[in-house]
Amino acid sequence: MKKFRLIHLVIIHCDIASREKYSIKIFSKEPAQMKRYPSIDLGLCSDCRGCIEIAPQVFRYNPATGLMEVIELAEYPGDLVDEAIKNCPEDCILWEVDD
Ligand code: SF4
Repeated sequence: MKKFRLIHLVIIHCDIASREKYSIKIFSKEPAQMKRYPSIDLGLCSDCRGCIEIAPQVFRYNPATGLMEVIELAEYPGDLVDEAIKNCPEDCILWEVDD
């Protein structure tokens, strides 16, 4: 009987410990503080500039580097970036999360 009680206590302790660990990971940063931004995989980009047509406030071509760029913004218009992602012929635009 004593053995059974000891095992039971250990299981409860482990369960509580894992929940605490889990909650620290989930809530270490508030979702509102996490910055979401678009990124271009330049290795795949064909330089069609379709993303500029859809969201010129987000994407631009840099003639000095000959590469497409994401313009630094405090916040990105989700609907326009989603539209650019949907229409990118090379599937090379993606959302990234700053953590
Ligand atoms: S739409 Fe896609 S392939 Fe075209 S320039 Fe933009 S990122 Fe590159």
